Amino acid sequence: MPKAVILDLDGTLYRGQTPIPGAPEAVESLREAGIAVRFLTNNSSMSRDMLVQKLGRLGFLAEPEEVYGTAIAAAAWAREQRWQRVAVIGEAGLFEALESTGTHAIDAREEQTVDALIVGICRTFDYAMLDGALQHLRRGVPFLATNTDATFPQEGGRESPGAGSMVAAVACVAGRSPQVVGKPEPRMVLDLIRQSGWESSQVWVVGDRVETDLLAGERAGCPTYLVLSGVTHTAPNGQLVGPDVAAFARELLRR
Ligand SMILES: [Mg+2]
Repeated sequence: MPKAVILDLDGTLYRGQTPIPGAPEAVESLREAGIAVRFLTNNSSMSRDMLVQKLGRLGFLAEPEEVYGTAIAAAAWAREQRWQRVAVIGEAGLFEALESTGTHAIDAREEQTVDALIVGICRTFDYAMLDGALQHLRRGVPFLATNTDATFPQEGGRESPGAGSMVAAVACVAGRSPQVVGKPEPRMVLDLIRQSGWESSQVWVVGDRVETDLLAGERAGCPTYLVLSGVTHTAPNGQLVGPDVAAFARELLRR
């Protein structure tokens, strides 16, 4: 019997502000069967509190410790590295996560000395930010990306530019590649597994993107399941796949 399921959010549990039909009930059915649920997102625009609130609004009950996003993980990374002050291209949740764990976060456009540059999704991204990022990186500071998703899914099949498109712009202008916090790196999946003392083989990783969600799960040694409710519409050969998380829960509970 699996111990836990790590669920992606965008395209797996909801699209934009709309839950995917059957997803809240699927999460509840896993819990009722004694399977722990963790919510893992590459989205860096929200702090832990913001994620818990959004999930709650859309019908998913989640405790703060069950929720993990790249804003939180980037803040933990900054602390581990003992960065005092970082330049940020990102949104409120990323600034909040950094400040609340003791790392001073400044707008990348500010010409101050920093210990690193962190880039996440920024829906007000502009030329001045790109210019600021270039100046910081030319000084040789570390370059951290929350994630490299090119897009994320919205309602009605629409997709919007993801953090990866901004990270690519910065990487291009500076001629440098970032270290990446989120999926497909296995770091966050492994953090969740270690925190609870599970074995990787007992933890399913579920998501809508093969090259991030499923690759992170695979690298962490977990079984993986692809849902077609987000950005992916055809499955690679040999990949366990279903239309949505409700189908996954039914299949898992039948085993
Ligand atoms: Mg997703």
